[in-house]
Amino acid sequence: MSLPAELLEPNATGLARAAGVLREGRLVAFPTETVYGLGADARNDHAVASIFQAKGRPRFNPLIVHLSDAGAARDIAVFDDMADRLADSFWPGALTLVLPLRPDSALSPLVTAGLPTVALRVPDHPVARGLLSAFGGPVAAPSANPSGSVSPTRAAHVVDGLGEKIAAVVDGGACPVGVESTIVGLTPEPVLLRPGGLPVEAIEACLGGPLAVPAKTANVTAPGQLSSHYAPGADVVPNVTSPPSGALWLGFGPACSDAALNLSPSGDLVEAAANLFGYLRELDARAAPGQPIAVAPIPDHGLGRAINDRLRRAAAPRR
Ligand code: AMP
Ligand code: MG
Repeated sequence: MSLPAELLEPNATGLARAAGVLREGRLVAFPTETVYGLGADARNDHAVASIFQAKGRPRFNPLIVHLSDAGAARDIAVFDDMADRLADSFWPGALTLVLPLRPDSALSPLVTAGLPTVALRVPDHPVARGLLSAFGGPVAAPSANPSGSVSPTRAAHVVDGLGEKIAAVVDGGACPVGVESTIVGLTPEPVLLRPGGLPVEAIEACLGGPLAVPAKTANVTAPGQLSSHYAPGADVVPNVTSPPSGALWLGFGPACSDAALNLSPSGDLVEAAANLFGYLRELDARAAPGQPIAVAPIPDHGLGRAINDRLRRAAAPRR
């Protein structure tokens, strides 16, 4: 049985408590100037997996990482001149930058959904900033609502949607902007990935030129794009029930004692999701040329749906 989320005041005591809950690897919803975010320690695989579990997200799309200041963002991603200019002009604020991920970032690969880029934002809300400084690390946070429902702009909305699925909510009143952040990709040409709280005109004025809008097929959520970005080098064969000859077997559950690695020996889907990207990467490195990765069946409910979505994409023919 789950307990209802702890409601925390937006003062020093509440923020210290919220930071402690994040450090324990549990989920805390908090206000930003855009909408309420559902935060987890972005370096903790299990905590990030539980974001997808709580929201009931059917797939592992990449999450925005929230930081207390631009210096912390520079430890995670590579900034070029344009990124510097946008960060200097609009952070803290409702702008998310998608930048090349530093290999030594220490982020969970679930945060970026295995992509070599990362979405970063320094929010401009006293409660979000207070929490990020009290925590002292990167916080992955999508909107704090069940997948498919409207983004929350008050603590009561969060409690309505996710009240029994998360550890705590910091109540900071209504969000002043009320729509999500504007997302600009700089890898390296500037593109508008999502319109949002910061007007595009302001960004274009800062850059001194128009922002490109990606073609529909270039959207990161397009399946083709995802499969080519997310796929390991080795072939992935899902739904393999017994130790395959000639393949590396990625197991799930107690029946797979002969597996090369086991996503969760106890059959726990949150643990399996937490291990998924790291284990695929590790088996990919171990695989001999041409040797496939066979994966045990994963139950198709809860986080299992997102795991199976990811495995189907990895198994899809390469373009
Ligand atoms: P949300 O956190 O739910 O507001 O959504 C995050 C948004 O950021 C989604 O639209 C993602 O597709 C986008 N996003 C996050 N990381 C990346 C990335 N590395 N590349 C492109 N888009 C990203
Ligand atoms: Mg959302």
